[in-house]
Amino acid sequence: MSYSSNYGAPGVPAPPGTLYNTANSTSTYNGSSTAPPSSSTYGNGGSSYTSGTYKNSSSYNSSSYSSSSRYGNDRGVDRSYDDRSRRDRKEYDTRSSSYRDRSPTYDSYGGRDRYTSSSYRPGGSNSYSNDRMSNLGSGLVKQEWDFSKLHKFEKNFYREHPNVVSRSMIEVEEYRKFHDMKVFGRDIPKPVETFEEANFPAYVLKEVLDLGFKAPTPIQSQGWPMALSGRDVVGIAETGSGKTLAYCLPAIVHINAQPFLEPGDGPIVLILAPTRELAVQIQQECTKFGKSSKIKNTCVYGGVPKGPQSRELSQGVEICIATPGRLIDMLESRRTNLRRVTYLVLDEADRMLDMGFEPQIRKIVDQIRPDRQTLMWSATWPKEVKKLAEDYLHDFIQVNIGSLDLSASHNITQIVEVCAEYEKRAKLVKHLERIMDQKDNKTLIFTGTKRTADEITKYLRQDGWPALAIHGDKAQSERDWVLSEFRSGKSPIMVATDVASRGIGMIY
Ligand code: AMP
Repeated sequence: MSYSSNYGAPGVPAPPGTLYNTANSTSTYNGSSTAPPSSSTYGNGGSSYTSGTYKNSSSYNSSSYSSSSRYGNDRGVDRSYDDRSRRDRKEYDTRSSSYRDRSPTYDSYGGRDRYTSSSYRPGGSNSYSNDRMSNLGSGLVKQEWDFSKLHKFEKNFYREHPNVVSRSMIEVEEYRKFHDMKVFGRDIPKPVETFEEANFPAYVLKEVLDLGFKAPTPIQSQGWPMALSGRDVVGIAETGSGKTLAYCLPAIVHINAQPFLEPGDGPIVLILAPTRELAVQIQQECTKFGKSSKIKNTCVYGGVPKGPQSRELSQGVEICIATPGRLIDMLESRRTNLRRVTYLVLDEADRMLDMGFEPQIRKIVDQIRPDRQTLMWSATWPKEVKKLAEDYLHDFIQVNIGSLDLSASHNITQIVEVCAEYEKRAKLVKHLERIMDQKDNKTLIFTGTKRTADEITKYLRQDGWPALAIHGDKAQSERDWVLSEFRSGKSPIMVATDVASRGIGMIY
């Protein structure tokens, strides 16, 4: 049997190239597959430049899906895993009713007086000084878990499709080999080869088919059965491989099988991501696919006022997408709690560790009941990520797509120029003259530091180039503005630190 890969069309942008820096800070040109393969790279110490050409644009919408109250009272656990969407049910019109009326198996663990429980230090403070980062999370008290008091919850929703049942292990192995897929662990479900075979409820399937995707990407075809079966999962695949849907769709199924949120409940699904840009991208997918079942989400990240995020959290959201620092802030100031989280996602785990979030991640995960389902996604599998998985995932199963070694994307022409520091700027301008000569071309320049990003932007602007900078020291409103100027083509040169590199998909 032979297989052909449908991944890549339609709607799949070329995976962004992998950026790698050698000791000399050599960097790679990073463009999209739709762009002319003109590129250049500079670097030999200090900062490095990466430039690329983008042609497409997309809408960037960070607002969360908003609907009125989601609290309900008469739903009970939907163990039948049927095709009814929440939209069709009547549960949305009450918020004051008693939880007792619901499933007897659901043992409430706090209700309204949730904030007086032992999970928070009495009088926990929300004011941080300069050593804020080191103190962050000090107001969180380690949880003691009494399993006899925790409500039971459903996490295995997977029913193998007859096509999958009838597929032999030889065929399965062939399929995995063709897609460069390796699996590790015990009792790993077979991959699915079509969306239908994933056996999603009809309301989820419809959303996916409506997008016009032809087939699951490899990480989805193996990741969906793994995640739907309630197991802890590690998925290693490069950025842009469809990882977000690999965990978002099972998350939606998971939420729909849990009792409704009560007033004061925190989220059921928590997704931790390294940057605001990535968090916002994840939110867009959650909004798209959660809409039909009225699943509310919010995105919690630093650099913007806390008020709106805090309000959304306290109104009740099933999905919270968060960067670690701001989430801890919200937990310490008691804007939310994690006692209802039964599905935890650590996205871009390697990147979060690179950015120094490990202590915060550990503090957050320690607040979540240990029998949750945990899914960890990463582009690479260094020992630090492995250790995190060993510490927080139970009996996990793993899928790796492609090689674990860093490699450059084949869709991108890479040109490496080794030069002296003083030569860099003139070379940069020479490449810009060539690239920007063509109408509609755009250039993205990555730098090693925020200071260099600002310096290069200033240098280019003084020289008359329409350049703007984006990095972590800029206010969120300015970052949003810079992205929109770049996307619309009004300012076709964007200089960025790598804080933007993994969330940059939104500019397509
Ligand atoms: P991600 O790796 O999750 O950031 O996804 C990268 C892009 O691929 C996003 O624009 C997705 O909408 C798109 N995508 C996800 N799944 C598929 C699929 N099965 N077929 C085509 N495109 C997909």
